Amino acid sequence: MRRCWHWLRAGNFSTADGAPLPASVATREVRRSAEAAAKGNRDVPWAAVVGLEIHAQICSNTKLFSGSQVQFAAPPNSLVSFFDASLPGTLPVLNRRCVEAAVMTGLALNCTINKKSLFDRKHYFYADLPAGYQITQQRLPIAVNGNLSYSMCIGKNQNKMVTRTVRIKQIQLEQDSGKSLHDDLRSQTLIDLNRAGVGLMEVVMEPDMCCGEEAAAAVKELQLILQALGSSQANMAEGQLRVDANVSVHRPGQLYGVRTEVKNINSARFLAKAIDYEIRRQIEELENGGTILNETRAFDYKLGCTIAMRDKEGKQDYRFMPEPNLPPLILYDAKTLPAHTSNLQVVNIDWLRERLPDLPSVKRAKLVKRYGIQPQHSFTLLNEDGLMEFFEAVIEATEMNPKKVLGWILKYILGYLKHHNLAVKDSPINPLLLAELLNLLESRVISSSAAKQVLEEMWKGKAPALIIKEKDLELIQDQNEFERICQAVMEGHQKEVSEIKKGNKKVLNKLIGQVQKATRGRSDPALVKQILEKQLS
Ligand code: ADP
Ligand code: MG
Repeated sequence: MRRCWHWLRAGNFSTADGAPLPASVATREVRRSAEAAAKGNRDVPWAAVVGLEIHAQICSNTKLFSGSQVQFAAPPNSLVSFFDASLPGTLPVLNRRCVEAAVMTGLALNCTINKKSLFDRKHYFYADLPAGYQITQQRLPIAVNGNLSYSMCIGKNQNKMVTRTVRIKQIQLEQDSGKSLHDDLRSQTLIDLNRAGVGLMEVVMEPDMCCGEEAAAAVKELQLILQALGSSQANMAEGQLRVDANVSVHRPGQLYGVRTEVKNINSARFLAKAIDYEIRRQIEELENGGTILNETRAFDYKLGCTIAMRDKEGKQDYRFMPEPNLPPLILYDAKTLPAHTSNLQVVNIDWLRERLPDLPSVKRAKLVKRYGIQPQHSFTLLNEDGLMEFFEAVIEATEMNPKKVLGWILKYILGYLKHHNLAVKDSPINPLLLAELLNLLESRVISSSAAKQVLEEMWKGKAPALIIKEKDLELIQDQNEFERICQAVMEGHQKEVSEIKKGNKKVLNKLIGQVQKATRGRSDPALVKQILEKQLS
């Protein structure tokens, strides 16, 4: 429920603690990959610089300054209060939940939380902004000077992990605007104010990245952090996480170049593409003797290129001014919390810090430790929505070694889901069914090649035991029958038999494969090997 923020008006004005700036992370390695990103443009090395501004919609039932509901895809203009429509005489009332979300996000990104922050008006004229200004935090934002570590797979087989850090300049609370809907049929523009006034956190990163892949990895990690905190659902497809990418190129050792800003990218894949396109375009432009304009560009995902929108040359004047209807936002910590004040009356930074959930980096480290899996696989488990829960549910229900379970999930389950464009939660095979199959494999009822056949049928919705019965896939238990089959295979492969007898042990695998074929996967390879070796000697 919304609360009145009377206490804000009698605040104790402490200043921000001035934490030192972390050292620049523009290491030699980063430079080198910047040069690699520019490769293909003759042999002159260029360095690319990328800085992101990310708007994350705060996960709250109501808007930042009004009690209107926040809902995706509601009927147009059904969630608009008088304040959201900027009717005269209405006043903002700050939503406590939004403040807490920003503080938690700031803490998770190692920021200094400002115990006093301010709200400002940023003016511009656009149909979807009825007040003619947006309330934001330009002079003194709620959180500053943080950093975000993210990892990427590199190397030929993508099996080496590197971890990089980008500095966070600030996090500010601000309002979202409404939406303009263009009706081409009747050639008119309609305004939907449902989104007007929804709470956003703008996360501003320092220009520490140098290619699309780095930016995409940083955004992915930020998305996981926001989701772990519950401060934003951060669903890019629903516009809850919108990224503006600032891109420039320069010669190493010289000043940074003029930057362009690619606006409103709503998928990590397109973000990487837009940035890499923009880097190539700028290098080409400069090499052809042209100049880069400080302009705003849009990414056309169909054409795979960026297109100039409107230029910022004449540096737009937003006429920033203090928001007169909102007092300074005052936060407390354990030391400054006034006596007899409960944590529900004020926002207590230390209280929130103690309640931070496990962040993705911690979750991954725990997965590696608990199950002995590869670090890069812990990334896959977290990056795919619901995959970690799927994996752990299978582990719960099977005796199989976790690493082996993960192998099955990554190769066969995830492979199938990706191929069919399905989310993990929509998988036709649920964790219990997979566990049932793996248990049958583990207890040697079926071979692994039979298990693969069973899995194929399981996608159609059948249970493993039934499929095994119908297709008669149980391992042959009868030793005599086995020996007969092995004998027959050996007789049919005299050439291979003599090769093995000459000492070429590798050929034995071919015979094992033939037995497997003859039994339609109903033989245990270890047992077959034993029998073949006995018969050969
Ligand atoms: P402004 O005040 O014009 O918005 P900021 O300093 O706030 O500029 O920077 C906005 C964004 O642009 C930040 O994300 C920052 O990392 C990025 N940025 C700044 N300079 C460059 C540059 N030369 N190349 C690429 N990105 C840059
Ligand atoms: Mg800016």
